[in-house]
Amino acid sequence: MKREKIFKGVKRVVIKIGTNVLTSANNRLDLSIIEHLVEQVCYLIKEKGIKVIIVTSGAIGAGMQILGWKKRPMEISKLQAAASVGQSRLMRVYDRLFREEGINVGQILLTRDAFTISERRKNARETINTLLALNVVPIINENDSVAVEEIKVGDNDILSAYVAELSSADMLIIITDVDGLSSGDPKQKSNSEVIHMVDNLPEVEKLVKNSSPSGYGTGGMKSKISAAKYVTDRGIYCVILNGKKMWSIKKAFKGGKIGTLFLPTQKKQHKR
Ligand code: GLU
Repeated sequence: MKREKIFKGVKRVVIKIGTNVLTSANNRLDLSIIEHLVEQVCYLIKEKGIKVIIVTSGAIGAGMQILGWKKRPMEISKLQAAASVGQSRLMRVYDRLFREEGINVGQILLTRDAFTISERRKNARETINTLLALNVVPIINENDSVAVEEIKVGDNDILSAYVAELSSADMLIIITDVDGLSSGDPKQKSNSEVIHMVDNLPEVEKLVKNSSPSGYGTGGMKSKISAAKYVTDRGIYCVILNGKKMWSIKKAFKGGKIGTLFLPTQKKQHKR
């Protein structure tokens, strides 16, 4: 199927925005990038009639900035304090930017049990559905300030994959700061290229496994590939896009050959 047609079929999408995109080199929230992403989300909502759910990182980073911490602390309690301070700053930024576009947002903070305990799963799904029906954009993060090891998801790529399944989304878009999955480590190999379409995930998993863990293009890709595997096994498309580049989301929805698109391996179960 052509890219354009795939994107045209999307009615509900989860967009995961990573810390690397949200913050600039000096660890500050990069307001111009967030504003540009919000602008594109509003384009999807207003022009395309798509329901959008955001999974955002950046709480700990934003908290560290406010508290004036240069180095990420080791103590869990300090990380949780940073998350607590940063999460509210993060939401204030999203709230202001969406309100300028006439759109309301709602915060949902989840831990692992929202996905594993059926009653909580049902509640989380109903809240998301109700917010979407009210044209409110759900903005989800892990509840970092209370999550302890046993109840933590721990990684927002995986969290976004769980949210995509829970909300029966058609597509998961992972916004990061590289152009997509590379055929090699761009730092090592000058001839490495972005793989634009993946229909054989096991092949790609090999590629990631063989790459150096510190590799720029593929090192941070491991959890993204796990997230892609999780959703494509459940009939959901996955796309990795560079959020630092202008209009990447809009271009992708216009059928542009950017980022990496993972095709589902199974048929989707409909249960919204
Ligand atoms: N929940 C963390 C935060 O908001 C980020 C976790 C992740 O990026 O995987 O700071």
